[in-house]
Amino acid sequence: MKKMKCDICGCDLSNEEVHNLNGKTLCEDCHMEETHPVKVCNPLPVMAAKKMTNNNKDTEDCLNELQKTLYKYIVDNQKVTIKQLCNKFSLTEVNLNNQLAILRHLELIKGKKDGNNVEIVPF
Ligand SMILES: [Zn+2]
Repeated sequence: MKKMKCDICGCDLSNEEVHNLNGKTLCEDCHMEETHPVKVCNPLPVMAAKKMTNNNKDTEDCLNELQKTLYKYIVDNQKVTIKQLCNKFSLTEVNLNNQLAILRHLELIKGKKDGNNVEIVPF
């Protein structure tokens, strides 16, 4: 019987441990890593990260630093008002609304009416 080796880590494999991927011979561990790449540095809180599908991960990558910071702040605080955000990040309301519109469009946050106030909450 031919001895199999994992193409990535080079460990010896018995027949039933072999996983094939794109013509490569992989052990179970490497196969897992190849098919489920883990992003090691995720700046978002676990709760938000859990909500992220693979698609949303790309979405998040196209946010600029300010939008990421705003989104993180909203997730951390669960609910904030426009005024709070303006003060906290020294933004004009127009500028802030533009940033929030993008986050809203990506379904990362949403506005919630509470009496006369509108609160911004994670989607
Ligand atoms: Zn391996």
